[in-house]
Amino acid sequence: MTDCIFCKIASGEIPADVVFKDEQITAFRDIKPAAKVHILVIPNDHIESMQQVTKGDADLLGHLFHSVKVIAAEQGIADEGYRLIINTGPNANQVVKHLHVHILGGNRLIYPMG
Ligand code: AMP
Ligand code: ZN
Repeated sequence: MTDCIFCKIASGEIPADVVFKDEQITAFRDIKPAAKVHILVIPNDHIESMQQVTKGDADLLGHLFHSVKVIAAEQGIADEGYRLIINTGPNANQVVKHLHVHILGGNRLIYPMG
């Protein structure tokens, strides 16, 4: 996708504070953190949202979620706990139309969020 900001972060065209990267995924700090630690994990290839996920993405998403665990440990938030959020569509206020998992941690989080 030529006009997608997260595709551009994955390709390195736009700078980001990248904390983990491999052939399949990129993880970087959210520009407007909603917790002490706020990281976004994305597939490098463009998937618009959860609604566009297919069975063929199973290996990719398995790898992505395993990496979430590794990143949380590396960031020192695993023992105290963290929250994952995947905003999907308008009611969830998905702003960036490239699938991303928010990792929030490092402090006590309010729930439910409404
Ligand atoms: P969502 O509402 O789930 O689509 O959230 C998109 C997230 O991307 C927000 O938390 C933004 O702060 C974050 N964001 C947008 N642009 C950038 C960027 N260039 N670098 C890092 N985070 C970004
Ligand atoms: Zn994209």
